[in-house]
Parts: sequence; C-alpha cells; structure tokens
Amino acid sequence: MTPVSATGDYDDDNIFAKVLRGDIPSTKIYEDDWAYAFPDINPQAPTHILVIPKGKYRSWADFSATATDAEIGGFIRAVGTVARDAGLEEPGYRLLANAGEDAHQMVPHLHVHIFGGRPMGPMLS
Ligand code: C5P
Repeated sequence: MTPVSATGDYDDDNIFAKVLRGDIPSTKIYEDDWAYAFPDINPQAPTHILVIPKGKYRSWADFSATATDAEIGGFIRAVGTVARDAGLEEPGYRLLANAGEDAHQMVPHLHVHIFGGRPMGPMLS
C-alpha cells in the first residue's frame, strides 16, 4: 500500500468504510452517533485505538472544512471519551491524525490514533 492524498473524492470502498458497514469484522470499543472506535490491527503501543467518524470524510482536511459543528463536536468528544474509558488520562496518551501523503496517511477515511500505555518519547520521526 502507498500513502493516500488528504483531498479528493471519498472512496466508499476504503477499508474503514467497510469496517463501518460491518463488511469487515472489527472489535467495537466504542460507538455513538458520531464515531466508532476499534483496536488498530498493528498496534504501536500497549493501547492503540483508532477512532473514526461515522460520516464520509477522507481526512482532517475535508472534515475540518465541511463537517457540521455537531459532527466535529461529537467526534472530538468521542475521542476524549474513548481515551478516558481506556484509563489513559494518567499518565497520558498521544493523539495522531495523519493527513495526506507526507504524513503517511494509508487509509482514506479520517482516523485518529490513540496511543497509550508507554512513554511516547519525541513526537516526530
Ligand atoms: O494513519 P494511517 O493511515 O497511516 O494509519 C492507518 C492505520 O490503520 C494503521 O495503523 C493500520 O495498522 C490500521 N489498520 C487497521 N485495520 C486494517 C487496516 C489498517 O487497524 N484493516
């Protein structure tokens, strides 16, 4: 797989669209009207959760530009709830949303990574 662009049309066949539709099985960690959370298949930390919006957004680019305030608020609140429910607030956790090719976004449906359970070290690599 190669990194994807942050912009452009939404691809209904992307892997996280299939997860949302239930076409690909996933372990539900959290779900509400705005968001769905499941474990990353290739965890990079003891806790590595992906939170995705229910809406069809390719990346942070179109989400921030075109989602409603309710969608944005609901999604951000869901990310915080997932981290809190996972017991990560102390000693802390990291959020990451890759947008576009330079950021190495691999799946063209907005996803926020939640990493926790170990010290994260310096931010960029
Ligand atoms: O931010 P980025 O697009 O690079 O991250 C995609 C993430 O989706 C990876 O961490 C990868 O392990 C995860 N993934 C997954 N289940 C899949 C395909 C990818 O959890 N079926």
